[in-house]
Amino acid sequence: MSARPILGYYHQVRPEQSDPELNGLGVAPQSVVGHARMLMKAGYRLRTVSETVAGGDANCAALTFDDGYADNLEYALPALAEIGAVGTIYVVASEIGRNGPSWMADTSGRNRLLTAAELSELSATGWEIGSHCNTHQRLPTLSEKDQREELRVSKERLEDLLAGPVRSLSYPYGSYSEITVRLAEELGYDNAVTTARRGGNGSRYAIVRLSLGGYGFRAVKQNTKLGLAIARRRWLG
Ligand SMILES: [Zn+2]
Repeated sequence: MSARPILGYYHQVRPEQSDPELNGLGVAPQSVVGHARMLMKAGYRLRTVSETVAGGDANCAALTFDDGYADNLEYALPALAEIGAVGTIYVVASEIGRNGPSWMADTSGRNRLLTAAELSELSATGWEIGSHCNTHQRLPTLSEKDQREELRVSKERLEDLLAGPVRSLSYPYGSYSEITVRLAEELGYDNAVTTARRGGNGSRYAIVRLSLGGYGFRAVKQNTKLGLAIARRRWLG
């Protein structure tokens, strides 16, 4: 049996790689479903991040989506719903409903971010909505006061919008410091994830995730990576 939960992460979800605007961050919905099936076959139950973390259930896994792209609702939601799974999406609160991520200076309209109404729709299907901060900045480069505002304002905005608690946090660029971790806990988050490959030391405010996005050869490599992660947990705990 698996000994530790597995968390994977993606950004945009699109059927085709054809869009150059994806900046190497996309994944096909079929790949997401493929990963979900691999996990389920290995005995994992796919849950939201807060369920996975709070439950302390080693046989849970979570698929997560950073930045809040509208294509997550269009493609990832129905693909996962078909196999009875949900995801967790991390939203940049001040970017809700924008034509594209302003931190990438993207105004192409091809990487639209979810609107408030769409986030409510996603939440109603059982997906978890977490915070990806208020603006998309490297938190450790900010003063403690500004870090606090990033974490606090985003949580409040999303809680107002969803009329419910926001428990989970994803650090922009996976970047955090000891101060960030302390603030996340102080401000009432239950957990936080990073994109850093290592670190965390078992802290629930620095949870490591597997990068699983990509098309073509990269997608093949990601399947292998997930397979190895499953095997490693099975044999080594
Ligand atoms: Zn991000």
